[in-house]
Amino acid sequence: MSSLRNHDIPALRQLDVAHHLPAQSSYALQQELGGSRIITHAKGCTVTDGEGHSLLDGMAGLWCVNVGYGRDELAEVAYRQMLELPYYNTFFRTATPPPVELAARLAGLLAKAHGGELQHIFFNSSGSESNDTVFRLVRTYWMLKGQGDRSVFISRHNAYHGSTVASASLGGMDFMHVQGGLPIPGIEHVMQPYPFGEGFGEDPEAFAARAAQAIEDRILAIGPEKIAAFIGEPVQGAGGVIIPPPGYWQKVEAICRKYGILLVADEVICGFGRLGSWFGFQHFGFTPDIVSMAKGLSSGYLPISATAVSREIVATLRASGEEFVHGYTYSGHPVCAAVALANLDILEREDLIGRTARDTGPYLAAAMAERLAPHPLVGEARSLGLIGAVEIVAEKGTNRRHGGGGKAGPIVRDHCIARGLMVRAIRDSIVMSPPLVITHAQIDQLVDTIAAALDDAGEALS
Ligand code: PLP
Repeated sequence: MSSLRNHDIPALRQLDVAHHLPAQSSYALQQELGGSRIITHAKGCTVTDGEGHSLLDGMAGLWCVNVGYGRDELAEVAYRQMLELPYYNTFFRTATPPPVELAARLAGLLAKAHGGELQHIFFNSSGSESNDTVFRLVRTYWMLKGQGDRSVFISRHNAYHGSTVASASLGGMDFMHVQGGLPIPGIEHVMQPYPFGEGFGEDPEAFAARAAQAIEDRILAIGPEKIAAFIGEPVQGAGGVIIPPPGYWQKVEAICRKYGILLVADEVICGFGRLGSWFGFQHFGFTPDIVSMAKGLSSGYLPISATAVSREIVATLRASGEEFVHGYTYSGHPVCAAVALANLDILEREDLIGRTARDTGPYLAAAMAERLAPHPLVGEARSLGLIGAVEIVAEKGTNRRHGGGGKAGPIVRDHCIARGLMVRAIRDSIVMSPPLVITHAQIDQLVDTIAAALDDAGEALS
């Protein structure tokens, strides 16, 4: 068995270049850098690489390690479940205890947040798979309702819904569409509700109305009878932490109801406390028909995602007598579900979501307003709960970018990493999404490190 601590890092980095293809990466850069940074262990909010550098994890892994690293109880639950029953499928009119219990637990949480319509849960392993499930389920639903012409999905530019063929097509990232000839037919993208980027200087209410109107205009242009669903992240995460203006989601919901269109909330990032509420739709006050969840569901300890579906959709499937011919080997994986249940226990027991809403979220917002917003390179510093972004601009008071855009973010990010903070660059913004267990002192470190990295970058950017 390989040792947990004494890895041969230079050898691993060579093997990484020789054999390992990391996700969403340039393999030329991987080679040029002599391999990936090998992260070997982590505790709380800190990850450590094989060369002994410790980094404050400002991204909770990839927006997912909500309860922080090093939770023995999650490891113990996984161990016990593996001994008892490591695997069984849900294809043969069979199920195992953990996914059934988790489905009921999620239905209870959703009932509190939503009013009881979202009572049925389909399990998958990733956010992408959950959105593929949404894609097939929605089209199946309309077909069974005798409205098979309702097949078009509306999404937003710069949305992220995953990396499989259907989920990347639902996403609105042009650079992802280029590879693989996406999007697949029947998916339309409309403007995103991005106040700093697309509504700069505009009254927020007027901007919310304009962004929602773009959806209605597209629906009318295509024909409302052809539209199956609208899908959106309550806050767009990978697009750059795009926080919509007040009123936007109510308007979107009203449009969906007006034309009988299903409303899908992609809560893969927002769910399980990120915004200081269990779900993003709760924060924004709308009621989706379908919800995709992943990441914080297990805090990333094991891969699991869940697609919550309304009573009406399941009633239609039941009335039809048809099978839903969709599912994965690992749908309802017992070990992943057991870990997710224990993760929900931690979120509840430690009141991590209440703490985000009342304490750490406002503390982060205040620190950003005080120490990042005034920086000469910062156009906007925004956050909601424990997710945030810092927009880097060439001229304060404007949203004009350095050298046409996209160059400043990676420079500042690299300075952050050199100073011991892991954050992500998305074009010319730095985004953050730390574990929900982050302390005030660590929030200070996060914010002060970004401020110092902006100072470091000043020369390169001037
Ligand atoms: N949806 C959203 C909102 C996401 O942020 C992500 C991943 O970041 C996904 C879906 C895809 O999830 P996964 O990477 O688990 O497939």
